[in-house]
Amino acid sequence: MSAPALIGLSPDHLRRRFKEVGVPGYRADQVAEWVYQRGVLEPEAMTNLPQELRGQLLADWSFRALEPVRVAHSTDGTVKAVLRASDGVLVEAVLIPEEERTTLCVSTQVGCPLACSFCATGALGFTRNLDAAEIIDQVLRMRELLPADRTITNVVFMGMGEPLLNLPNLIAAVETLLHPKAFAMAPRRVTVSTAGVVPKIGELLEAVPVNLAVSLHAATDAVRDVLVPLNRRFPLAELMQTLRELPRISRRHPVFFEYTLIDGVNDSREDAREVGRLLRGLPSKLNLIPMNAHSDSGYQPPPPERIDAFMGELVRGGVTTTLRRSRGADIDAACGQLAVREAAG
Ligand code: SAH
Repeated sequence: MSAPALIGLSPDHLRRRFKEVGVPGYRADQVAEWVYQRGVLEPEAMTNLPQELRGQLLADWSFRALEPVRVAHSTDGTVKAVLRASDGVLVEAVLIPEEERTTLCVSTQVGCPLACSFCATGALGFTRNLDAAEIIDQVLRMRELLPADRTITNVVFMGMGEPLLNLPNLIAAVETLLHPKAFAMAPRRVTVSTAGVVPKIGELLEAVPVNLAVSLHAATDAVRDVLVPLNRRFPLAELMQTLRELPRISRRHPVFFEYTLIDGVNDSREDAREVGRLLRGLPSKLNLIPMNAHSDSGYQPPPPERIDAFMGELVRGGVTTTLRRSRGADIDAACGQLAVREAAG
């Protein structure tokens, strides 16, 4: 048996575990500071701890959950890493540096059970959930790749997997991101995206005050059933009613919708008008993502003029819309392209 991972634990959790073995709580805060704030993962280097405790930490805990296997750099600055867990499974994480911020896109599952028809991860099928340590080690490992004058300012749970099907580990990881003695991130800098696991949305927002993103992709059940098969279990009416009843959603905390535009599938003016009708009155912003093509589906992005027309129609319908410039497509790091396979490379 290998030692349990320390890095998935929030400082509060760590305090409890330390107390159980007679180590005072403030020591947990010191360890959390070394690990999460300074990125120091060798107990020997934690110089404000007594030597005996350093030895105990080394013996009782593991400080890593993932090993980087490959790192790819896009011409636009995007960095994708393939990381291996202790049982050999592979996950991907993507760093997206911009002028004002550096966003990290993390995975929550190995593969994904939802099988959205346009998503490369969906084509992999599902292997297993990541635990909190494996989620947090993506943050630590990716931060280590940044130059000294940069740090991760935003975390989006938009990598491989459906976060809301891995809720306990997701919540534990978010708690560590937000905790003032750990990563101390502001809640508005953490975003969880879901394909619409309706019964878990309220539970997530009651546990942690993150931004909510919802993968919409269609404004009618007929189209959404095909793109997001989960829609057959939780159709649009149910999803929208749940979103409208969330106490946290307001103009200051809108729902962020993602809409992947696919040539000839969901990109007509009428589709755009339907989106406007669906979102009316709900504080929200919509992110348009032209389909990133990949070999697991025949779908293509619409031509630029159709994207413009779609966006124009949304704006006329009162939908706050942004067009997401895809990043990292040359290294298969763009939305929906995360599909590392164990056999690969
Ligand atoms: N399972 C969650 C988290 C994944 S987020 C969710 O569905 O929200 C990844 C986002 O990229 C989702 O909005 C997903 O629908 C979108 N996406 C998947 N494949 C894509 C592709 N080929 N091109 C553009 N966006 C894609």
